[in-house]
Amino acid sequence: MKKNLGTICIHGGWKAKKGEPQQLPIYQSTTFKYETSEQMARLFDLQDEGYFYTRLANPTNDAVAKKIAALEGGIGCVLTSSGQAANFYAIFNICQTGDHFITSNTIYGGTFNLFGVTLRKLGIECTFVDPEWDDERIEAEFRPNTKCFFGETISNPGGNIFDIERFAKMAHRHGVPLIVDNTFATPINCRPFEWGCDIVTHSTTKYMDGHATQVGGCVVDSGNFPWEQYADRFPGLCTPDDSYHGLTYTKAFGKMAYTTKLVAQLMRDLGSIPAPQNSFLLNLGLETLHLRMPCHCNNALKVATWLQSNDNVAWVNYAGLPDNKYHALAQKYMPLGTCGVIAFGLKGSKEDAVCFMDNLDFISIVTHVADARTCVLHPASHTHRQLSDEQLREAGVAPDLIRLSVGIENVEDIISDLKQAMEKVFSK
Ligand code: PLP
Repeated sequence: MKKNLGTICIHGGWKAKKGEPQQLPIYQSTTFKYETSEQMARLFDLQDEGYFYTRLANPTNDAVAKKIAALEGGIGCVLTSSGQAANFYAIFNICQTGDHFITSNTIYGGTFNLFGVTLRKLGIECTFVDPEWDDERIEAEFRPNTKCFFGETISNPGGNIFDIERFAKMAHRHGVPLIVDNTFATPINCRPFEWGCDIVTHSTTKYMDGHATQVGGCVVDSGNFPWEQYADRFPGLCTPDDSYHGLTYTKAFGKMAYTTKLVAQLMRDLGSIPAPQNSFLLNLGLETLHLRMPCHCNNALKVATWLQSNDNVAWVNYAGLPDNKYHALAQKYMPLGTCGVIAFGLKGSKEDAVCFMDNLDFISIVTHVADARTCVLHPASHTHRQLSDEQLREAGVAPDLIRLSVGIENVEDIISDLKQAMEKVFSK
């Protein structure tokens, strides 16, 4: 039976059989027992399916991965130990030393650093482009060794909306996949595969968990990218892997080639799996994702509208606001709402912004975002403090930007807290 997203949030991945636990069990075991040496050998020869070591596969992790794949409409999903690991794996699965890729420059600071510094050390070069540039200017950045295009559905922290369909078409014109980090929108509000995106990543630490209990990530494959059509460009997928029985992933696994390689090669060699206990916690979060996201969006729209009408606020960026420059794109890709994250600036100095945050009552200053609890952060002083002023501007982060992640508390209380903190700053 075809199920709607709300039903998948609850029932996806794990289906209890007679006498089995109703709730997803935590298989907190590194390894799995077999009765004969022959049985184990058949697993290694890929003749039988089964679990043998949690770094490669674990029933709790697999059930949660299946749920997320179903939510995104993908054919395969791999859970990782963090969102950082997910973005690293998504790129590294198809890029090697000497390769190049293109990314939107309005992305999370950690991803900016991963791409611009750490991947560069591995010999993988990345060009940052402004998605606002016209097609001609961006397309000029594609090179013969370009392997993919990357963007965030809703950028963290700027809140800019990525034109998925436009960049999917552009990537495909150049024979490469589009990878989209869908963390802030979640599949409840946006399903990038429906707009031509090929691979989706998430920091599951955020809305998917929603309660700040675990750090995690995932990579989801649509199964749609025709790797074999560009076999020379993707030798890792389309030529034999000596480290894996000489198998050619596209030949042996068809549409599951990308996902299988990511597990069989990257997970095997690099690790970065989530603990089954963490996947259990993530699964509890996913069970209410379809209820929390509309509440985040409704609350955020009310808060953004209130901020916009406040004389002490210099600017507000929330794509849910009708006069926002990204509103039309948001309506196209996320008609049900975007997310709970608002970016705004106060009239006044950086010290005023800090004073405002220090005077909040239940709204907390945390590095975290996209949580049931309303929280606030000043990226230029916190998450993005490693970036120069120029890099901050390139990443769409104004020095006065306050990132407010609107939670699911009573919205009148959220506004009252903001109001009383603002009064303390501006009545001085
Ligand atoms: N992608 C986005 C959009 C993020 O906001 C974050 C973290 O804030 C990450 C990736 C990295 O995720 P994690 O903190 O789970 O490693």
